[in-house]
Amino acid sequence: MKSAPSLAPEHLVETACPLDCPDGCSLSVTVQDGRITSIDGSRANPITAGYICAKVRRFTERVYGADRLLYPAVRKGPKGEGVRFERVSWDDALARVAARMREASERWGSESILPYSYGGSNGLLTQDTGDATLFRRLRTSRLARTVCAAPTGAANGALYGKMPSVTYEDYPQARLIVAWGVNPSASGIHMVPYLREAQRRGARLVVVDPRTTPLAKHADLHIAPRPGTDLVIALAVHRHLFEGGFADRAFLDAHTRNAERLREKALPWTFERAAAEADVAAESVRALAEWYATTSPALIRCGWGQERNRNGGSSSMAILALPAVGGKFGVRGGGYAMSNTEAWGIQRTWIGAAEPTTRRINMNHLGRALTEADPPVNVLFVYNSNALATSPDQRRVLRGLERDDLFTVVFEQVMTDTARYADVLLPATTFLEGYDIPRAYGPIGMRLARPVIEAVGEARSNADVFGELSRLLGVNEEGDPTGEIEEMLDVFSKMPARIGDALRDHGAADPPHDGRPVQFVDVMPRTTDHKVDLFPEALDREATAGLYTYQPDPATKEYPLALISPASERTVSSTLSELPRPALKLLMHPDDAAARDLDDGAAVRIYNAQGEVLCNLQIGSWIRRGTVSLPKGLWRRHTANGFTANALVPDSLTDLGGGACFNDARVEVEAVRQ
Ligand code: SF4
Repeated sequence: MKSAPSLAPEHLVETACPLDCPDGCSLSVTVQDGRITSIDGSRANPITAGYICAKVRRFTERVYGADRLLYPAVRKGPKGEGVRFERVSWDDALARVAARMREASERWGSESILPYSYGGSNGLLTQDTGDATLFRRLRTSRLARTVCAAPTGAANGALYGKMPSVTYEDYPQARLIVAWGVNPSASGIHMVPYLREAQRRGARLVVVDPRTTPLAKHADLHIAPRPGTDLVIALAVHRHLFEGGFADRAFLDAHTRNAERLREKALPWTFERAAAEADVAAESVRALAEWYATTSPALIRCGWGQERNRNGGSSSMAILALPAVGGKFGVRGGGYAMSNTEAWGIQRTWIGAAEPTTRRINMNHLGRALTEADPPVNVLFVYNSNALATSPDQRRVLRGLERDDLFTVVFEQVMTDTARYADVLLPATTFLEGYDIPRAYGPIGMRLARPVIEAVGEARSNADVFGELSRLLGVNEEGDPTGEIEEMLDVFSKMPARIGDALRDHGAADPPHDGRPVQFVDVMPRTTDHKVDLFPEALDREATAGLYTYQPDPATKEYPLALISPASERTVSSTLSELPRPALKLLMHPDDAAARDLDDGAAVRIYNAQGEVLCNLQIGSWIRRGTVSLPKGLWRRHTANGFTANALVPDSLTDLGGGACFNDARVEVEAVRQ
């Protein structure tokens, strides 16, 4: 077991980053007199290779910043901007929370309590441990965590049972890499050197993204489709594989089912028709298809950009099905790459209660849940998440949070937008003040994050707080772990021994298959019959218009522009958005700006029937015509009227997986009259 924080003068502490990012860096943190002075990459993890992103380099500004929550507090006066909080003791704060949860349960039923969380810290200790035990035992409403990766997860699960995928280390083996809906400069910078190495060795790179990202600038082919049309491009590639005689019949016969049904869905999508729908050159789609058909090893790196719309599930299905139809598996560097979170095959057997059958609320419908649910949500418990910044239909979420009769608990590190609506604020430790077990999901990695400094102020760990609430609410049981270290040891003991022992004794576990599985050699689909079902009936029934069925663009004459909100280099989702940043600007293509007589830097109003956002304009040709972009993860302080892109995003759901349709916002933009 590693030691607790030291108060020695200047020293280095090795730890790991648990933020929601594929890379899972190892960190080398300099501490002087109990205070962090710098955060850098360590070489303990070869993927990190001694460097980290600029976001985490700045993490000390969160740890010690003006927005840090230092003490428990209760609300005084109205909720929202200008709210005042009064410091109370932990005992007082937790007693109030427990009393209100008990009261809500007795008066309105336990489902009137809604726990709300999502990956603010992505390690195995800080979510789905004591928190899940508490809320399951209380039989609260359940939360479907769908704001990200739900459609890709549904597709990967249905096709391959979340088989481990190609890791960064094997990218250089590929002769063709298709980076689809992914921008590693913003999320997952350590992928870039591997892509560059592949190109240096002669691989072609294709990037599919509506923006000319840094990666797209270096691509052999950049396809910038209208958001939401990735499905038809993928189907056009399938059509070419099937009709051009490039489908791998031997592989399809041996390892798949229902290829013919996929072929039928692809048949109408000629290069010309797909290109017209996606508003790209037919020659580009043809080039992608021809290169993919004739190159091996060929790798598809499937991101999350293609899932954030009404066709997101079918798009992800069609993209992930390509290596099966094209016969791209079975060679190092061939197949597909996406989240490897499930590569370890770990079940969370440490959760101390079975999942109840209480109502399940899709987190993308938080606004509805807070304003329409029956029974009403009476207690909202937010942790590891800034719901007001990250949920679709932001105005409705805000209306819900403003309810006087809603009791909101926010357990957080800093004063987020959501925290301003709390009745009780509970200060949380950051990953530099406690233990966690981060998993890399681009490479396959698992390391121990350990406390670098003592908790700042009176911040407490999730284990401490949920454990104490369990006791106060009378649902703790004999043998429940108490506190963070006991919880961690409990998790270690319930992992496969090879993994738990290695984490406990060495702070890192060796990944399965040396971290470089070859698909269909080292790993097979984890479906029940180990086959790939290319047209799963259950998904066809679930899909809004049927599986692989394209749903047209929701643009109207009034709102013709697609608004996207992709990840930025400044935040991990909305984490770190409290830090200073350059003034926010809406990115628009020069032709769209000229058509509206808008100048660079102009104050603009972005609007649709749901709401409006006021900010300034940046004109640039690195976004496609007809599409505008605001960064993901903004907070209310970043715009002139306190709303972000999510105020313009409908709370409609993706065709599969119940995901968010962030890229289905359709808007118009006009100058703000001064
Ligand atoms: S956010 Fe990603 S790139 Fe940055 S330090 Fe963490 S794991 Fe590394």
